[in-house]
Amino acid sequence: MGSESHPLASRTAKARATCIAIGRGGTCVGDGNFLLAAGPCAVEDREQLLACAQAARDAGATALRGGIYKPRTSPYDFQGLGEPGLRLLAEARDATGLPVITEVLDPRNVALTAEYVDVIQIGSRNTQNYPLLKEVGKCQRPVLLKRGMAMTIREWLLSAEYILSAGNPNVILCERGIRTFETATRHTLDLNAVPVLRELTHLPIIVDPSHGTGNAAFVPAMSKAAVAAGADGLLIEIHPNPTHAASDGAQSLDLPSFTKLAREIHALRKIL
Ligand code: PEP
Ligand code: MN
Repeated sequence: MGSESHPLASRTAKARATCIAIGRGGTCVGDGNFLLAAGPCAVEDREQLLACAQAARDAGATALRGGIYKPRTSPYDFQGLGEPGLRLLAEARDATGLPVITEVLDPRNVALTAEYVDVIQIGSRNTQNYPLLKEVGKCQRPVLLKRGMAMTIREWLLSAEYILSAGNPNVILCERGIRTFETATRHTLDLNAVPVLRELTHLPIIVDPSHGTGNAAFVPAMSKAAVAAGADGLLIEIHPNPTHAASDGAQSLDLPSFTKLAREIHALRKIL
């Protein structure tokens, strides 16, 4: 793939890896800075979010992720708390000092969401929603851009290019698994993307093993594999009581499991 197709994201444009500052507490990602983001798939209530936030911070996570606008396959499933959830995310940040990340689905929600949170997530189902990409390109917050579940790496970089060319230089790429013929896992986590992107772009590359596997039992192994592959960070779903989660319970680690995994990740990074 020639760098001319993605001039702003390419290594040719900028040889040195980009480091993106998140929030005001010193969290950074890229160029040697590791982002450990954790939180519930969906923010359900204050108690659930604060339990996740505190466990994440105590385990050494560097950001809290919680969804308030949920892109659910069925319209009858929990759609997220919406706008009131923004205040809960801000409260969790105040309580823990962790910067917060949340997904937006609708261009009309971008400006208000950016007032409350530190990073805007663009989910897999929206990575080729070009009006939404242009809108987050205009906002002042870093953007966590998931890979579309049927997207090539080239198409993904072109989506990043939409945000960069609209004026926002702070894009974090997040591999979250692609659809293949395999049905033993929810998606196939494409860890090839980490070294491939390392050659093609200066942008930070993080990995989401929760959606990549769909199964909490496989998350620790694939988290460590991502670190070994050179990822700049991880995005991991956690829940105080996964069996009762409003969404993605099967792939969410309970809080003690996350604490254990965070310790292993820290140890592995030291060795590497
Ligand atoms: C999520 O992060 O909860 C989510 C919906 O992820 P994805 O867009 O990768 O499916
Ligand atoms: Mn989820």
